[in-house]
Amino acid sequence: MPNTGTPHEPSLAERDPEIARLIRDEEVRETVKLRLIPSENYVSRAVLEATGSILTNKYSEGYAGKRYYEGQQVIDQVEELAVSRLKSLFGVEHVNVQPYSGSPANLAVYLAFCQPHDVIMGLGLPSGGHLTHGSSVSITGKYFKSVPYDVSPEDQRIDFGEVRRLALEHKPKIIWCGTTAYPRTLDFPKFREIADEVGAKLCADIAHISGLVVGGAHPSPVGYADVITSTTHKTLRGPRGGLVMCKKEFAKDIDRAVFPGLQGGPHNHTTAGIAVAAKEASTPEFKSYAHAVVSNAKVLAEGLLSKGFTLVTGGTDNHLILIDLRSKNVTGKIAAQALDRAGIVGNYNAIPFDPRKPFDPSGFRIGTPSITSRGMGKDEMLKLADVMAQVVSAPDDVKLIESVAAQVKELCLGFPPPGIAV
Ligand SMILES: *Cc1c(COP(=O)(O)O)cnc(C)c1O
Repeated sequence: MPNTGTPHEPSLAERDPEIARLIRDEEVRETVKLRLIPSENYVSRAVLEATGSILTNKYSEGYAGKRYYEGQQVIDQVEELAVSRLKSLFGVEHVNVQPYSGSPANLAVYLAFCQPHDVIMGLGLPSGGHLTHGSSVSITGKYFKSVPYDVSPEDQRIDFGEVRRLALEHKPKIIWCGTTAYPRTLDFPKFREIADEVGAKLCADIAHISGLVVGGAHPSPVGYADVITSTTHKTLRGPRGGLVMCKKEFAKDIDRAVFPGLQGGPHNHTTAGIAVAAKEASTPEFKSYAHAVVSNAKVLAEGLLSKGFTLVTGGTDNHLILIDLRSKNVTGKIAAQALDRAGIVGNYNAIPFDPRKPFDPSGFRIGTPSITSRGMGKDEMLKLADVMAQVVSAPDDVKLIESVAAQVKELCLGFPPPGIAV
């Protein structure tokens, strides 16, 4: 039994009842609510056990076989296992599993390939890009010359004509392809063509979709991108962490950028949790989950369209749906807060070319990873579309919201989530 401590040691509930109670409260919240934030998920009990283990006690700056501290007999094996599982899972030549999260993984790519003030390109934040792809409020927009590309105003899909035009004009060192609020498949071969034309490195950030990629539910950037980064805690269903994957030729530069370039000792308990998640992600059950995430999103999108919602790009081919609430005459924030009270948890989000301000934008972002991990399917998606429509059309109706919250709780209790003891 890992992690129970010696019998004479107080348990968490005895040592710190306040934190123990808050953890329990969050377990209840994650059980009785529909969690629709597309970057969130449930990890398995096995992943939780590894992540909560005594591996957190050990310092191991460096890489397996080349550490700066003694006593790595066990840790080297943990990291090597994580790396070899990830290499075969993604089909890549090199993996660095040490980045503390997705953002530090992306910083490592900049440190490996760029000098300060170099030109970089990424999808603009309002078009669904990530902060670390050159947003002006991020270090990546302050230390580098960021030239964002956008989606097209017509179909709200990535405008490859603009990507190519800007790339030819500005000759970026790096082109990022990767998104955080974009409901469509990414065309990696097209990005590769443009990167080759201008001599840029192509970096695919698959933070949101890595679970779909390894499950075969989204095309893989392997063979197209020079470097691939990801989080481990979104659709991949691991603990919070980051990855950088690349061809052998970039391995040294990437490893040096992560350590000693950006970080000190790796989080070994996280590495162990990632290894467990990689093992789980190589199973047929995970493939089914990945495909179900996408089919659930499509059914939910159809359900929402039939209830009069407007969806950015008109639908989805991945795990995510971005609702344009303007046709419902309600703002993102008001809808998000009313839905949260009804037990339906998503996030307000800017839509492309949003006329409103980022702290109260016109969009609401949802996704199906968490509800798919708890086993929900088509019937639940249609029910969800129905209750969402009710709440959004009457966000101040306290009676209605109470009734929906009760229905949501009832529904949720039929689908106990992984990792949480009821
Ligand atoms: C979530 C995300 C990240 C950052 O991950 P953190 O772990 O929150 O730092 C980076 N890139 C994309 C595209 C993301 O969606």
